[in-house]
Amino acid sequence: MICRKVKANLANLLFDPESVPADVRGHVRECAACSEELASLEATMNLMDDWQAPEPSTYFDSKLAVRLREEQRAEPAGLIERMRARVLFGSNVHLRPIAVGALALLIIIGGGTYAGLMSSHSVAPAKTSAAVEELKSLDDNAQVFQQLSSLDNDQDDSDSSSNDL
Ligand SMILES: [Zn+2]
Repeated sequence: MICRKVKANLANLLFDPESVPADVRGHVRECAACSEELASLEATMNLMDDWQAPEPSTYFDSKLAVRLREEQRAEPAGLIERMRARVLFGSNVHLRPIAVGALALLIIIGGGTYAGLMSSHSVAPAKTSAAVEELKSLDDNAQVFQQLSSLDNDQDDSDSSSNDL
């Protein structure tokens, strides 16, 4: 029974022995199993104190930079693919003609940025991330579709009112 009490207090026995009840401390001194367990925990803690995180390999930074650049280059294609899928298979049929126009515009803008990225072989990192940030904000901006939808609805309203006159 007291062995279980010791196990619950092992960390305290190591770091703050005063907080552990005296009978528990006394038991650890007499019980081989408990003192062994305490010694084992102490050894582990000492090892962790000595342990030093290994240095990353010399090529880590450049490898990371290459992978980031690849991800950034993949971004425009992914965006356009997703938008196309949304336009073609979206449930809002009403929205399609105007959304296709918007998509074409996005492809021109995005494609231009993309071509600019590809043509300049020595890409300045700041420039790259700025373009990618721009595309990401476009990607995140699902509101564009909502705004297009409301524009479309407004147009319908004005059409019907002109018919009334
Ligand atoms: Zn014990």
